[in-house]
Amino acid sequence: MLTSIAPLRDRVAEARRAGLEVGLVPTMGALHTGHARLIEQARRECGCVVVSIFVNPLQFDRADDLDGYPRPLQADLDVCAASGVDVVFAPTAEEIYPRRAECTVEVGRIADHLCGRYRPGHFRGVATVVLKLLQIVQPDRAYFGEKDAQQLAVIRHLVRDFNLPVQIEGVPTLRDTDGVALSSRNQGLSPEERVLARSLYRALSEAERTIAAGERDSKRVAEAAGLLLPQDERLRLEYFEVVDPEDLQPVERIEGPVMVAGALWIGSTRLIDNLLCSPSAMSAVATPSGN
Ligand code: AMP
Repeated sequence: MLTSIAPLRDRVAEARRAGLEVGLVPTMGALHTGHARLIEQARRECGCVVVSIFVNPLQFDRADDLDGYPRPLQADLDVCAASGVDVVFAPTAEEIYPRRAECTVEVGRIADHLCGRYRPGHFRGVATVVLKLLQIVQPDRAYFGEKDAQQLAVIRHLVRDFNLPVQIEGVPTLRDTDGVALSSRNQGLSPEERVLARSLYRALSEAERTIAAGERDSKRVAEAAGLLLPQDERLRLEYFEVVDPEDLQPVERIEGPVMVAGALWIGSTRLIDNLLCSPSAMSAVATPSGN
């Protein structure tokens, strides 16, 4: 494990001299099988795989959330060793932010909805730390999960807008057998809350079904999905939105593929998830033959 930037750069330079492609998997640790999926893809595509473990203070909007974020470093190192990671980069906050930053990345309207609306400054923090990690490691490819779809979209824009020489790879969401997306935050759920967590994926799946069946009105899609949430005081739906998958702006009439995304509080744990939905079945029904 490396904790400082200089030796990390030396190690990556050595891999490059050996003619290896470098892949970066940025994480905040508390690694699970979802992260392992990203690492596996990087392993298949790159000769040198770097995993960063850094709980980025700049992207947390609540101090208690930052303090309580799980940091099981030894278990994470074991996962990395078992997955054939070449370099683990686990810097301290002082290494990444040695002084108060005067420059951060300003994210535009892509952060106006979904999580960005409820977590002010979150995507500025994400975009800033990812830009820094990409500058530090200078990988050929970097891997991000589709579970955090708004994050992935922000990073794709970051790379385009700043002409960064890196290929961004999106990796499909890995789910538990009951549909719940794997997440480091699931660790904070009690067994009862873990059962309640299924309702977010159920609501998203209902939205997918409704859209495929021909519903074009996003409001009605969200209403139908919302009915599936159990009446339970531990549950609070923060948002449930139908958006354009590219620019993440709200869609009122569903005419093509959309992303349905939700954030659900279960007690003191906030989970997010999303599904890409296509109205293709609907258009087959809606277009009379011969017209
Ligand atoms: P995190 O440690 O939560 O910041 O996540 C690190 C990376 O792993 C991000 O790109 C996430 O989108 C991705 N990730 C987290 N959970 C999953 C999952 N269940 N399936 C696929 N990717 C995931």
